[in-house]
Amino acid sequence: MTNRIDLKQDEMPDHWYNILPDLPEQLPPPRDDTGRAIEVLKSVFPKRVLEHEFSAERNIKMPDDVRELYFQVGRPTPVIRAKRFENYFNAPIEIYMKMEGYTFAGSHKINSALAQAYYSKMEGVDLITTETGAGQWGIAVAMASSLNNLKAKIFMAGASYYQKTYRVTMMKMLGGDVNPSPSKLTRIGQELMKDEKNKDGSLGIAISEAVEYALEHNGRYNVGSVVNADILYKTIAGLEARKQLEINGIEPNYIIGVVGGGSNYSGLAFPFYKDYKNAKYIAAGSFEVPKMTKGEYKYDYPDTGKILPLVKMYSIGYDFIPPPIYAGGLRYHGVAPSLSLLMKDGIVQPRDYDQETVFRYAELYTRMEGYIPAPETAHALPIISEIAEIAKREHKKKIVLMSFSGHGLLDLGSYSSMYS
Ligand SMILES: *Cc1c(COP(=O)(O)O)cnc(C)c1O
Repeated sequence: MTNRIDLKQDEMPDHWYNILPDLPEQLPPPRDDTGRAIEVLKSVFPKRVLEHEFSAERNIKMPDDVRELYFQVGRPTPVIRAKRFENYFNAPIEIYMKMEGYTFAGSHKINSALAQAYYSKMEGVDLITTETGAGQWGIAVAMASSLNNLKAKIFMAGASYYQKTYRVTMMKMLGGDVNPSPSKLTRIGQELMKDEKNKDGSLGIAISEAVEYALEHNGRYNVGSVVNADILYKTIAGLEARKQLEINGIEPNYIIGVVGGGSNYSGLAFPFYKDYKNAKYIAAGSFEVPKMTKGEYKYDYPDTGKILPLVKMYSIGYDFIPPPIYAGGLRYHGVAPSLSLLMKDGIVQPRDYDQETVFRYAELYTRMEGYIPAPETAHALPIISEIAEIAKREHKKKIVLMSFSGHGLLDLGSYSSMYS
């Protein structure tokens, strides 16, 4: 077998996988303390997306138009065996990377952006709105909006807007109307701006603004992580990976990845969960935003402006203002409710790693494999070192599947801090 496993276009799955019917217990429903939040959801989510959010159906058929768009942006993505990286550990271990950085949008986020933009267009509106932290989701939405003939209003966490100028340019070039958040464009933005601590913005603030803007301008809000429907659309990565490994008779012992809001990891891992009960599931986050290891499992707001319904999840608090770490995609304060439930039950184990450790692994990986991972993606690499130790101790081969969530070509500014 070669080190690269591809799928042909006609082998790409034609449905998404919904984990809700297979969870060990029922997902705690969203809670609406104001009596308005559920109404807000109904007005800003496309109907189909809202239906998928609460669906009890396991397999949900993908529209042909979305399938076609997946092909256009670079799906199916390959699984690459990281052989040189394996050799570095000098342990009986095989590492398979599901390469979501191979699409032009640069990360797994396009998988959901295309579906949500498509369902928004089906409602007959011409505007979608969204939030973005470091900008990867904004890029995916800008691209998806243009491919679906829609306008996109994007609220980007202020600090990132001024730091990640290449990402801003990419969004603009793709047709996105991107604004630093908090902004004067919404009432919530004006309100939150008054408090000095909010000046750099956060994903939580940008979400509130995007939702309010959609409400006021008859747009549809497209959500970048956390919710069931978003994870559903991102399972295309896990469904492909499962097929790619099964065709070659490879059974993973570990399924790993990183967690911002949780959709990247869930998108890879959920399609394995029901049938791969013996695999170990490990998800890593950032030590600087330790919602998984230090957060509490509780009802909390997904957004700082408290417009959306409360959901039960691991959270370090909706008003947490994250430090300006480089892995901007990992700064969110909560973890997707479905993934949180699996963590509470001990099925998915959390890890947190500090930036310095992660950057060391990112550099090592780049030199071994000739490919620069996004700083977010690189947070999962230290898990492999842990697995290698176990493999050595047990003298037993361990097979690892990792979600390689994105490339780091627009993160060179961050990585340059290692060489100054
Ligand atoms: C956004 C992002 C993540 C985190 O994804 P979530 O779905 O929010 O968990 C991980 N890696 C990359 C490259 C990203 O862009």
